[in-house]
Amino acid sequence: MLDATRDAAFTLLDAVLDHRRPLDEALDGLSGMEPRDRAAGHRLAAAVLRRLGTLDAVLEPFLKKAPPDPVRHILRIGTAGLLLLDTPAHAAVATAVALARARGLAPFAGLVNAVLRRVAEAGSAALEGLDGPRLDTPAWLWTAWGRDARDIALAHQHEAPLDLTMRNGAEPPPTGERLPSGTWRCPSGIRVADLPGFADGAFWVQDAAASLPATLLATTPGERVADLCAAPGGKTAQLAATGAHIIAIERDPARIVRLTENLARLRYPVETIAADACLWRPAAPLDAVLLDAPCSATGTIRRHPDVAYLKRPRDVVNLVAQQDRLLDAACAMLRPGGRLVYAVCSLQPEEGPARVAAALGRLPLRLDPITLPFLSEAVTADGCLRTTPALWPERGGMDGFFAARLIRD
Ligand code: SAM
Repeated sequence: MLDATRDAAFTLLDAVLDHRRPLDEALDGLSGMEPRDRAAGHRLAAAVLRRLGTLDAVLEPFLKKAPPDPVRHILRIGTAGLLLLDTPAHAAVATAVALARARGLAPFAGLVNAVLRRVAEAGSAALEGLDGPRLDTPAWLWTAWGRDARDIALAHQHEAPLDLTMRNGAEPPPTGERLPSGTWRCPSGIRVADLPGFADGAFWVQDAAASLPATLLATTPGERVADLCAAPGGKTAQLAATGAHIIAIERDPARIVRLTENLARLRYPVETIAADACLWRPAAPLDAVLLDAPCSATGTIRRHPDVAYLKRPRDVVNLVAQQDRLLDAACAMLRPGGRLVYAVCSLQPEEGPARVAAALGRLPLRLDPITLPFLSEAVTADGCLRTTPALWPERGGMDGFFAARLIRD
């Protein structure tokens, strides 16, 4: 019988790997499914994407020639079940064969059956001698991450926890722990909308590292502050919680809707403007600007393993140009002495330190080194923030972020 979880995982892998569609977007296309099956399919597809190179290397010796892509996806799902997820062998094989038949791949059902039986026989020995971190990381990312690559790739093997930023004074959920950064960390696999307090705006979802850039801006009540790339609004909410007057700029109409809904749930008063931040200018110079710039998002791969396969080096080239334009605009909005925090959820040096160095060379800005006593290992020699998924390993890691604080001359 066709298994809904594996069928959903197949749809998601096909969308990401064969049609270059983001996993979350493909997941939206499964909204007609039973929510539990859909969530399980999502987790299974993410597990396959996290270990894609390893799974392919395991399959390689058992394949005489390359199978069509859809057959390979079924083999990957079956192998992930057998070697990574403790699925009983008969269930992993039978569901894979049923999936092949249901997907019009009946001529390959025998191959799927034979290959997966052999993987089951080999068991964990099939993983021995494989360099998982290297196999599971596209070459251009491995090179760009330099000597941190192995630790980052190892951290990517694990599902990320669920991190919440609590509204001031709100009661945290019954499960989880408070991190030194203030983030409330719950185990992975929890549905956020099921947590008590969600509907009342007691918290919002935000990785521990993602909460740091807004903190570094250190806004105070009454200050006039722009959040230039605001949706879905995690950092906007943090800034609003300080009592500053926040102008949230976002240019994507669909994301503005999400931003507005999130801020309404959290009950934070924010002035929201639909505009291109490169073109928008404030009525009077601002005290502070947060620029959480569009980026390759390679720092979020443990939450979004599809990013490793969707992003290409040329995307970084295009993003770098946008980041420079946004930095120019941000600088022009500030009063003398005003503060700018530039942040990206990227691990690529071109999007981080290189952008700041270039901005310091062409704009009336100087670097304001940060201190972060509870995470000093994330502060670079020149006083910028560089987190990676390999930090706080005993607590479950964090996303990769770069941030720098700059002052307008
Ligand atoms: N700051 C957000 C948060 O913490 O929830 C995440 C921001 S996300 C990294 C970048 C956002 O910038 C996207 O929503 C994107 O649509 C928006 N964006 C990209 N280019 C922009 C531009 N030129 N002007 C305004 N918004 C832009």
